[in-house]
Amino acid sequence: MTFEYDDQNIFAKILRGEIPNQTIYENDHALAFNDINPQAPVHVLVIPKGAYVSLDHFARDASPAEQVGFMQAVAEVCRLTDVDQGFRAIANARSHGVQDVPHYHLHIIGGRQLGRMLQ
Ligand code: ADP
Repeated sequence: MTFEYDDQNIFAKILRGEIPNQTIYENDHALAFNDINPQAPVHVLVIPKGAYVSLDHFARDASPAEQVGFMQAVAEVCRLTDVDQGFRAIANARSHGVQDVPHYHLHIIGGRQLGRMLQ
């Protein structure tokens, strides 16, 4: 599998400051912001600042510092939002995973009772 990153995707534009976002947390390696079309009271997207297309791309090629920074952002999102009763983390990848934006992002969804399974 080779990964080709399109730097015109909408999250790349957010990282460059070309499109506004509602930031929840940011560090050197990751940005967390509210999803524009929330599926639950809490719906935050955590993205790496590096140019990674998908979870498997990030897991394969991101440095340890980038991976730690990303997970620290996940921890901060969970601390800063109302997910004490639980949440779901989803990473859609490519066409079978119905990934729309080709920059790796983790959905953190919570703040209400979720259904048992996704379609
Ligand atoms: P899907 O749309 O199938 O969930 P993705 O996993 O690629 O596909 O998710 C992309 C997410 O990005 C969607 O939840 C969408 O609402 C969100 N989104 C798109 N544009 C923006 C934006 N400008 N700011 C915040 N979230 C956005």
